[in-house]
Amino acid sequence: MALTKKDLIQHLEDIAVYLELKGENQFRISAYRKAAQNIETDIRSLKEINDFKTIKDIGDGTNEIIKEFINKGKSEVLESLKNEVPEGLIPLLKLPGIGGKRLATLYKELDVVDLESLEYVCQTGAVEKVKGFGKKTTENILKAISKLNTQPERLPISLMLPLAEKIHDNIKKIAEVKKSSIAGSIRRMEETIKDIDFIIATDHPKLVTEKLLLLDNIHEIIASGETKTSVTIKEDNYLINIDFRLIKPEEYPTTLHHFTGSKEHNIAMRQRAKERGEKINEYGVEIESSGKLIQFQTEEEFFQHFNLEFIPPEVRGDGNEVSQFESATHLIEKEMIKGDLHMHTTWSDGAESIEDMVQAARKLGYDYLAITDHSKFLRVANGLTEKRLREQAKEIERLNKKYSDILILSGVEMDILPNGELDFDSEFLKEMDIVIAAIHSSFSQSEAEIMHRLEAACKNPYVDIIAHPTGRLIGQREPYAVNMEQLIQLAKETNTVLEINAHPQRFDLSAKWANEAQKQGVNIAINTDAHQTNTLSYMNYGVSVGKKAWLKPETIINTWDKSDLLAFINRNK
Ligand SMILES: [Zn+2]
Ligand SMILES: [Zn+2]
Repeated sequence: MALTKKDLIQHLEDIAVYLELKGENQFRISAYRKAAQNIETDIRSLKEINDFKTIKDIGDGTNEIIKEFINKGKSEVLESLKNEVPEGLIPLLKLPGIGGKRLATLYKELDVVDLESLEYVCQTGAVEKVKGFGKKTTENILKAISKLNTQPERLPISLMLPLAEKIHDNIKKIAEVKKSSIAGSIRRMEETIKDIDFIIATDHPKLVTEKLLLLDNIHEIIASGETKTSVTIKEDNYLINIDFRLIKPEEYPTTLHHFTGSKEHNIAMRQRAKERGEKINEYGVEIESSGKLIQFQTEEEFFQHFNLEFIPPEVRGDGNEVSQFESATHLIEKEMIKGDLHMHTTWSDGAESIEDMVQAARKLGYDYLAITDHSKFLRVANGLTEKRLREQAKEIERLNKKYSDILILSGVEMDILPNGELDFDSEFLKEMDIVIAAIHSSFSQSEAEIMHRLEAACKNPYVDIIAHPTGRLIGQREPYAVNMEQLIQLAKETNTVLEINAHPQRFDLSAKWANEAQKQGVNIAINTDAHQTNTLSYMNYGVSVGKKAWLKPETIINTWDKSDLLAFINRNK
């Protein structure tokens, strides 16, 4: 994958941090920081900068490092610095209020090399005696350490889902495993997750258990028996519980159903069984009068037994869903998605070219895609001016001629400015094939200010979609002060589409609000916001959120035929 401007800036900043930890001369350190800043504010993309020495504060030395980094993805300078600075110091930089310079002092004066040694010298009182530190600083450091050590009970799905999928890939490689699945709240696509459950069907549980215990990063084996093995895995400084349940292949569908939950869904299913004189357990369905056990090949068969259509895990919720599946429902499926309408390329902060994205979208069998790089206001993401967007449109025109099997829309993810103005005037927006509007700044504004901005975007006749409408990052950042009921009404009145951003950190709209939007007659776009080709696959997650929201395919504009989509985006032109 191609390196991005962000990667280069990060690399230079990393060098500065390591130099700081080494206690190097301040001029040398700030030279790297200045170089990074000047590259960041340069409006050109990495490819367009032929000679880095023309940028202010970049001399021969830094230029060599940049060239080496662009060619090899690493530099000799940073590699050797990494060998000179204790590894344990790096995570300490995340502690609020400490920073590289202070850490360097503690490293030099008190031999602090990791979290334990830092905690120790704080507790012994050695830190407060060091020049520039005091009692207050020491207390703050200790507070930050204790916060670092407490893990929240539930972790965001953006951390847990990729981890679960990685482990699952390794489970599937075990020859004796006949069937396997992630179960529990991850399978139901809850936003936060407590632990990870796997259901594994095998005729050789002992052998499979032995192989499971060889998985990467196992921190501790909590319990290991014939049918259940529990371990903790260390990921991102968190300890995560993983349960593996090993069962016979004929028990697989009912065990998987049982451990997928939710609790309320299972209660509703058991109630349904009871009414027919049957009992559901982990092994199958028991006929109470005869004691006969019925087993199934698949979960579909299990539901069929109760005269139900397959209930997708995502909608297994408060139990009321069960009766709705007595007849066929009509929910979104991933095969119905015909395109992706939000993605970035090297023209702004994406990692790959337009053509790379087009080829990846063709591989996914899409009929259309939209290239939507950032607009000029977003300098940090190398946002595009009107002039650059017109140039980009020419490149897209060329690619549309080259690839006749897919329609490439020339779009933009346009910033809604803090004062409620849009980054481009209507005259210009009319030229674009598709316009996504988004808030990327001043998140702490009042509800009135935020709603004023969103209203301006919805009311512009050429804005088609509002991206990630609440701005939340699950487990990291609360939504800005958006009034969702009001936004849904605005979207309805102005025929503006709201996005489900499929990035697992966002899932924005959430299933709850996407459901409400559909109820009010507002259309939805499920978009990946991919910044590289391999995250176009987040569409699967987005579809899961859509299912959880009970979305019908016709609500989702990127299930529409090309002609219907074009009619929509041209509605006011
Ligand atoms: Zn965005
Ligand atoms: Zn975006």
